[in-house]
Amino acid sequence: MRKNIAIDGPAGAGKSTIAKKVAKAVSAIYVDTGAMYRAMALHMIRNGIDPEDAAAISRQCQSADITIEYIDGEQAVILNGENVNAFLRREEVGNMASRSSVNPDVRAKLMELQRQLAARTDVVMDGRDIGTVVLPDARVKIYLTASVEVRAKRRFDELAAKGQPADYNTIFNEIRDRDYRDMHREIAPLKQAEDAVLVDTSDMTIDEVADRILEIYREKTGKA
Ligand code: C5P
Repeated sequence: MRKNIAIDGPAGAGKSTIAKKVAKAVSAIYVDTGAMYRAMALHMIRNGIDPEDAAAISRQCQSADITIEYIDGEQAVILNGENVNAFLRREEVGNMASRSSVNPDVRAKLMELQRQLAARTDVVMDGRDIGTVVLPDARVKIYLTASVEVRAKRRFDELAAKGQPADYNTIFNEIRDRDYRDMHREIAPLKQAEDAVLVDTSDMTIDEVADRILEIYREKTGKA
């Protein structure tokens, strides 16, 4: 039986940083499902699709061939033969992803890919619906969150560190709107699975969060 770990939560809770650390500690593969939704969003942007046009999104998603490769241990998302990692973190792509991910055809296509990955190897998979929909039988489920203020401040600091000045209030509003869309969509909304453990990272360091999750993993799997 696989020892998959599902980590769900809102944007900016620290999922990817933590999931990478945990994956290393338990010798599993880290799978960033948000990056798959971002690659699909990039495909929509490149083809000039209107985020409100559901039929156009359903049609266009058929022509997106998305696969995952691991290059030097890092996940690379391949969109129609091209490694698109360099484009995925843009705000524009994140905002489109939060819109195009409500589409049932987009979700069905990416869920299939996610399940195939998890069937092949032990994974630490992060996203919004991993514990609730994609891997309902995951051995360990974590719901990682933090206040909107803390998440906006983290994103603001991250951009500042990259020399990309940003407006805190704009980031705050984008995060709040994204939470709303992710939590209120009809299919696979962001919510804590009944058997997930809630970890609020607002006042925790990255190492503290990773240690807490490893503690939960040991409790659930009996591993020392
Ligand atoms: O986690 P990240 O910010 O990269 O995700 C981008 C968007 O993709 C999210 O706002 C969400 O709408 C969508 N997503 C999703 N289901 C997942 C992962 C991401 O709907 N499992």
